[in-house]
Amino acid sequence: MSRFERSKLLVQKYGGSSVATPEHIRKVADRIIACQAEARHMVVAVSAMGKTTDQLIAMAGLVSSRPSGREMDQLLACGETIAVSLLSLALQDRGVPAVSLTASQVGIRTDGSFNRARIANVDTSRLVHELESGRVIIVAGFQGVTRDHEITTLGRGGGDITGAALAAALNAPVCEICTDVDGVYTADPNVVEDARLVPEMSYEAAIELAASGAKVLHPRAAEICMQYDVPIHVRSTFHRGQGTWIRGGVMEDAAVVGITSDKKIAKVTLLDVRDEPGLAAAIFRDLAREDVNVRLIIQAAATHDRNRITFVTDNDQVDRIKELESTWRTRKIVGDVQVDLNVAKIAIVGSRIASTPGLAARMFTALAKVGVNIDCISTSEMKVSCVIGCDDLDQAVRAVHAEFFGTSRIASTHAAGGAKRPSAKQVAPRKAATKTAGATTRRRVLK
Ligand code: ADP
Ligand code: ASP
Ligand code: MG
Repeated sequence: MSRFERSKLLVQKYGGSSVATPEHIRKVADRIIACQAEARHMVVAVSAMGKTTDQLIAMAGLVSSRPSGREMDQLLACGETIAVSLLSLALQDRGVPAVSLTASQVGIRTDGSFNRARIANVDTSRLVHELESGRVIIVAGFQGVTRDHEITTLGRGGGDITGAALAAALNAPVCEICTDVDGVYTADPNVVEDARLVPEMSYEAAIELAASGAKVLHPRAAEICMQYDVPIHVRSTFHRGQGTWIRGGVMEDAAVVGITSDKKIAKVTLLDVRDEPGLAAAIFRDLAREDVNVRLIIQAAATHDRNRITFVTDNDQVDRIKELESTWRTRKIVGDVQVDLNVAKIAIVGSRIASTPGLAARMFTALAKVGVNIDCISTSEMKVSCVIGCDDLDQAVRAVHAEFFGTSRIASTHAAGGAKRPSAKQVAPRKAATKTAGATTRRRVLK
């Protein structure tokens, strides 16, 4: 038995692409062993192998036209359960004591919202016991369990949330998100060739980037780490070079931290909406009741007592809107509903966007120069986003990225190295912020 010491704890999360094949799993096992030489205790959250979750969703679609949330979570959680057992087996094969645990074996307690459950608390007693017994713990990411022992999942990309929640609950010095790119870039490095690795950023910028489409990190993971003051290190699974540090006390150098894109959206236009007080309230209440995420709303000025309301939502939620359409028509609230799936969103994200004049104009000019038409615009203190045609998206992201991160504007410092992008340029790093050590708690509530 070795007493649990939080300063010697490393919490890591490996994504699906990092454990896509048995060979990947063996390599991750070797990496964990190398990391263990530096950290005495290791807790590792793991996602399902490769595209397993997509395949399970597709399979459910072959047997059911409206799969229930409960059964879907029961099914999807299996992907992560397979991955953790295999990784634990690979570690044991190398002589390392390891144990795989599902969320329910750990006690990752969530609410009962299937497919999008939120973690209420993490019981650390089993974790601490296993660590004190000298075992590496491999935890199934993305899963949760309700008070009534129902299996839940945390939403797509939710493995990051598990990593963050484990790190927060154990008061870990760092939460490492190990992935298939070297860190967080100024744009998706798989879309923009000369995207720059950002060495560090604030929690706020990371949350905003993630929420507006930078898939490398789940926004909720960054929120949890911000709330519990746990620094996040987003880094490559395939080498040990530095990636992106996300933590408190970082002042962004430039107003624009990154360019994000999101293809998984739909634009919904409600035509002939009666121009009466309370009708918008009724429509958006119905949408909220059906759990439809509404991201951007534009109401055109009324003509002939009729309004036009446009909003953007996730493309997998249009079925629910189609169901609402008939009730709206029956209640004579709306004349017609048009759904456009051939749209995408591009955003500039940063820390002082609205209060820095000219940024929106530069973005719109860059889009105009490559002939991209803007459909809708929304702004906030941390971003300007535009809805454009889906086919224009990659070209638009490259043009806007070139406008804000042209080589002359960014100091290129040390190379990050790496499997996928071996010679990544970086945005100039600032002085690192330090984290103060806190006391270990055995059970913490994650609101
Ligand atoms: P994992 O399987 O490790 O969870 P994801 O596929 O969820 O990995 O996230 C990593 C992917 O995120 C990268 O391959 C990259 O294409 C994409 N991505 C989007 N925006 C960014 C960004 N700004 N920086 C880095 N990666 C990004
Ligand atoms: N396997 C889940 C998904 O594909 C969770 C994750 O990968 O983080 O969404
Ligand atoms: Mg992910």
